[in-house]
Amino acid sequence: MPNEPNAVCAICGQKYYVCHACKSTKTLTPWRVIADTMDCYKIYTVLRHYTNGSMPKETAQKQLKKCILPETFQPHIRSAIDEIMHTGQKAATHIPKTPRKTSKEK
Ligand SMILES: [Zn+2]
Repeated sequence: MPNEPNAVCAICGQKYYVCHACKSTKTLTPWRVIADTMDCYKIYTVLRHYTNGSMPKETAQKQLKKCILPETFQPHIRSAIDEIMHTGQKAATHIPKTPRKTSKEK
C-alpha cells in the first residue's frame, strides 16, 4: 500500500490520502488538506461562512443543496447542517398559530 490514508476529512470523517507535496503547497490545493472530496470542501466552506456570520441561513441552505452530501458526517458537522436545513423549512411555512382569545366572558 503506497498511499496509506494519512488524513481525516473534516466533514464526513472519511480517511483519505494527502501527498506531502499537497500538504506543503496549501496555496495550490488548499481543500485537499481539509476534505477528501470537492463536495465535502464546499460544505466546509458554507459552514465556515455560516458559523462566522458572513452567510445568512437561507444562502447556506441553497449552497448545501447544490452539494452532494456524504452518507456520514462528523457529529458537530451534522448538527450544523441539521440546523441550517430545518430552520429553512420552518421559515418557508411559518404561520403564526396563536389565536387571540376573546375574553368577553370576564
Ligand atoms: Zn469527506
